[in-house]
Amino acid sequence: SSIPKIVILGAGYGGILTAQKLQKELNYNEADVTLVNRHDYHYFTTHLHMPAAGTDSVDHSRVAISRLIDEFKIDLVKSNVQDIRLFDKKVILEDGTLSFDYLIVALGGEPESFGIPGLDNYAFTIRSINSVRLIRQHIEYQFAQYKGDESRKDRLNFVVGGAGFSGIEFVAELADRIPLLCREYDVDPALVHIYNIEAAPTALPGFDAELVEYAMDVLKKKGVTFKIGTAIKECTEKGVLLATDELIKTATVVWTGGIRGNRLVEAAGFEAMRGRVKIDEYLRAPNQEQIFIIGDNSLMLNSEGRPYPPTAQMAMQQGICCAQNIVALIRGQQLKPFHFSHKGTVASLGKGEAIAVVGHKKYMGWKAAQLKKLVDLRYLFTIGGITLVLRKGRFL
Ligand code: FAD
Ligand code: NAD
Repeated sequence: SSIPKIVILGAGYGGILTAQKLQKELNYNEADVTLVNRHDYHYFTTHLHMPAAGTDSVDHSRVAISRLIDEFKIDLVKSNVQDIRLFDKKVILEDGTLSFDYLIVALGGEPESFGIPGLDNYAFTIRSINSVRLIRQHIEYQFAQYKGDESRKDRLNFVVGGAGFSGIEFVAELADRIPLLCREYDVDPALVHIYNIEAAPTALPGFDAELVEYAMDVLKKKGVTFKIGTAIKECTEKGVLLATDELIKTATVVWTGGIRGNRLVEAAGFEAMRGRVKIDEYLRAPNQEQIFIIGDNSLMLNSEGRPYPPTAQMAMQQGICCAQNIVALIRGQQLKPFHFSHKGTVASLGKGEAIAVVGHKKYMGWKAAQLKKLVDLRYLFTIGGITLVLRKGRFL
């Protein structure tokens, strides 16, 4: 048929928002839309630090995609994307092939290990529902194992590599969970150590200094030991080796040292910096009229010429804009340039604690924690309306 084929790769923040906007804007038979995702659920990456530490259930961090889209309007394909063939305008899946006229690449990023030896083999990462299930189980297993052999005190050391937002949010949840695990497994809390290792001269590099200090104070009181200005040099079966040559013995390393773009993007032949493609003002890949790249795989510069950090709010706004631009292309209308509207940054520090910057205002403690809840609830409302808020929302 002559109906244009739109294929969306990935149903994360960017992909879901694109699909929903297309579903709303397109008229009957104006285009065929296919959404491809590895799982039949959408997960809230921004919540994953909680199920990873075991302070919340996995089911609060995901929702069936069929609840978010109208399957009469969008074909949902649950499959793994294996290859993007630009020249043939095809996407190779593990179990088939899709051809496209318009493509949206929204596959999300991958952990960046900077070639640090051992990280790929011995460290966990917070990136998906499956990856956080492993972390949670592994942590509990260390407590159980320790009870069988109390000489292995290293099993009670937990190392988090990188004190960016992911590291800080995870370490805070872990610190909240440890006292509960100690009670459950009859372990003296004094034997447990949580280390957060950061290479830069400060935690949360680039963030407001007063809020960084506040965050570190809160976390230190919860029992976190920081090693700032100290890079992880190697990771082995026995533990992590720091740039200072200190060895921290541990069976648990969670790597939150940074992310890069998806390897499929580089493999497809897009020009990329650490897997991220510098897109044009309409969110298209260089020299491509009908291929859009959004979210963690895209690179956009702010007015000072520095790359925007890859965030969920960026991916969501790009999702809406690229859907509008695809509709405009199909209708032969003018494209709209993308403008990022920064709504602020809110980072959780565990139960009842957070830090936030909204506009020129700073928030910390209880107030910031309420803001975090609001942001989360608003997201649920945006993608799933009040039903999703009631089903998945965390109000307490
Ligand atoms: P994703 O949301 O990662 O979605 C990608 C989708 O593609 C996934 O569904 C995945 O399953 C699918 N996929 C991947 N590969 C394949 C394949 N080969 N085949 C098929 N499907 C595939 N940002 C904020 O703005 N605020 C926050 O508070 C915040 N908190 C965070 C907390 C943590 C612990 C982490 C790790 C990140 C946080 N972020 C936050 C960053 C934010 O999660 C990302 O920037 C955002 O998820 C990027 O959206 P995306 O659409 O590019 O990709
Ligand atoms: P990041 O790149 O922001 O932070 C990684 C940290 O690891 C950096 O501080 C870096 O200096 C450190 N690091 C790198 N190599 C190291 C080494 N060898 N040893 C020790 N430390 C090392 O990554 P992230 O925290 O996963 O965040 C990714 C993106 O997601 C960012 O854009 C962030 O803004 C966003 N995010 C936002 C929130 C929020 O808004 N609440 C939460 C999580 C993530």
